[in-house]
Amino acid sequence: MAGVTAREILASSLNMKRKTLITGGAGFIGSHLCEALLHRGDEVFVIDDLSTGRLENIAHLRDDPNFHLSVGTILDLACLETMVRKCDRIVHLAAVVGVKKIIQAPVETIETNVLGSHNVLTLAARYGKLCLVASTSEVYGKSSKHPFAEDDDVVYGATTKSRWSYACSKAIDEFLALAYHNAENLPVIIARMFNTTGPRQTGRYGMVLPRFVDQALRGDTITVYGTGQQSRCFADVSDVVRALRLLLEQPAAIGQVFNIGNPEETSILDLAWAVKRHAQSDSQIRLIPYDQAYKPGFEDMQRRVPNIDKISRLVGFRPKIQLKEIVDRMIESRRQELQEAIPLRVTADLPSRALPAGALE
Ligand code: UDP
Repeated sequence: MAGVTAREILASSLNMKRKTLITGGAGFIGSHLCEALLHRGDEVFVIDDLSTGRLENIAHLRDDPNFHLSVGTILDLACLETMVRKCDRIVHLAAVVGVKKIIQAPVETIETNVLGSHNVLTLAARYGKLCLVASTSEVYGKSSKHPFAEDDDVVYGATTKSRWSYACSKAIDEFLALAYHNAENLPVIIARMFNTTGPRQTGRYGMVLPRFVDQALRGDTITVYGTGQQSRCFADVSDVVRALRLLLEQPAAIGQVFNIGNPEETSILDLAWAVKRHAQSDSQIRLIPYDQAYKPGFEDMQRRVPNIDKISRLVGFRPKIQLKEIVDRMIESRRQELQEAIPLRVTADLPSRALPAGALE
């Protein structure tokens, strides 16, 4: 990184056509970021192993001469190095994500998230490239202090409960990025995203909103895990992508951690009712015990609310899309996708407890 300062890297690229490497660019968030950067006239390089990313997400970009896709893994250092050398900056999104996937593939989760990020950061440091590392609100764990602010303590469950390996793996990514920043002056930015959702998100790996919407549109039972009283805050992907771009263009963001999210909170049960209502669905809503939805001993977070004061102060970010519209947009986009796709049943037949009809509507 000899002689290159963070501010110089940013300043030199501010008004130019930039070359951005997006790891995991065929994923849900990545594909929206690709679109936004190409729209601005940038050149975009994607490396994606298509494990959870999908070619369909980026199919509409493939004829753009500024778009370059390499199907490969961030665990392949040589492949990654070729891409890092070509770009001016990196947005590192590639990771194993989704609670279901994390529980099914614990080794892959830890190795991809820790070793893959190690590769990305090593090369970023070797070639002096700005690196925005995508992190997650999971990092806060089950802390009960709300809303979560960037410098708050984190609280995890036992190592025997595999869910926490995801939080720990992303926390290690954050530690490593900040260590490179402090020890080698590598320009890094850490973005902790809170339940991003929107068009192209799939429910296959556990994400709740597309699952509920698919269930509602198919007339299947809407499966609410636990008591449904646990809450989340959902942010539309367009807001999240705007926040990422604002951070990438702000020199003062370097070396810092930012929450990105929408503080509007909903219980998961209320979300299920909202989806049912907005989709005008006849689906039943059922409570499924966590042990059956995931595996015995599964621990969920009861609340997860972002404090977004820091990013608001620095770059003026406020989410524009609120929950009602988020639900409507998801219904519209899933309706379109489901009409195009061969009908597939995504809902497992799980033992469940029916709610009294209309009890909470
Ligand atoms: N959830 C649910 N039904 C589903 C999928 C998820 O009730 O079909 C719940 C899940 O237990 C959690 C919340 O919805 O309390 C959000 O889950 P998701 O996996 O989307 O994200 P995360 O747990 O990482 O916030």
